Amino acid sequence: MGSNIDLRKFQDTEAIENAFGALVSGKKTGYKTVIERKKPKPKCNKCGRFGDEEQKFCRECGGKMVIPMTNCPSCKASIEEIDKFCPGCGFKLKE
Ligand SMILES: [Zn+2]
Ligand SMILES: [Zn+2]
Repeated sequence: MGSNIDLRKFQDTEAIENAFGALVSGKKTGYKTVIERKKPKPKCNKCGRFGDEEQKFCRECGGKMVIPMTNCPSCKASIEEIDKFCPGCGFKLKE
């Protein structure tokens, strides 16, 4: 007996929805890393008073306001205000 097996393949042609829209394209995931470094406050070279950022001369004694160095101008190592020489490279910081 010849057995004819009719295999009906039901291919459901479902409409493929483009779920991937252009929504992704316009989406920006950028992180702005703003590094704000606080400027060291100027200090009077006569009486040692700290002043405002824009201040040029001392209110008390008229001395010149100088911004203390926080990094070695030579090797950029962090230095203390009292350091006379850079601990990193030996750069002379003060006269
Ligand atoms: Zn002063
Ligand atoms: Zn140095």
